[in-house]
Amino acid sequence: MKEMVKISDLSQTFYTKDGELEVLKNITFNLIEGEILTLLGPSGSGKSTILNILTNLLKPTSGDVIINGKIGYMFQKDHLLDWRNIMDNITIGLEIQNQKTDEAMKRVERLLKTYDLWDFRNMYPKELSGGMRQRVALIRTLAVDPDILLLDEPFSALDYQTRILVSDDVYRIIKNEGKSAILVTHDISDALSIKVLL
Ligand code: ADP
Ligand code: MG
Repeated sequence: MKEMVKISDLSQTFYTKDGELEVLKNITFNLIEGEILTLLGPSGSGKSTILNILTNLLKPTSGDVIINGKIGYMFQKDHLLDWRNIMDNITIGLEIQNQKTDEAMKRVERLLKTYDLWDFRNMYPKELSGGMRQRVALIRTLAVDPDILLLDEPFSALDYQTRILVSDDVYRIIKNEGKSAILVTHDISDALSIKVLL
């Protein structure tokens, strides 16, 4: 079993004008290839801090982090750009990384067709429901072909009914694409299988 992410004895303390804030203390976990791991903890427990460390936005106070693969990050809000159509939103990561190759565009086409977005490719984000927008955001994250997906409270902006549908959708797509993922949530009902409690 391949370990995609290996976190050992990770600690994070922030030093602010109000003093020290110990947010993470001796966190250890692995993400195995093909697994969707849920980090469950209340607001302020350090979930986003872990993701910031994994994406190198933050250097941890102590501990070891090993990452075997390319990371794709999906945020709480979908961050779709209103003035770009669905296709152009999905390819924005490829554009930024200057990787809009034939191969990448074939991958995008396959993803759009497989996940029922092809007919929507010329529409604009405001024409789509919240659930569809979140699917677009996920496909955009997959367009750059990451090995590891980081999802930071991806359902929390959605109403309850939509959340159930979208979470099923997200799990299905990640599994079907054979990706590994870390999903962060404060809501126990979002957690498919709880692996790490903060
Ligand atoms: P969660 O995502 O679980 O809600 P966060 O990881 O965002 O929690 O934050 C955990 C705690 O660390 C919070 O109290 C937050 O205010 C604090 N924090 C996060 N980033 C910083 C920072 N760069 N400097 C100081 N405090 C921070
Ligand atoms: Mg957070």
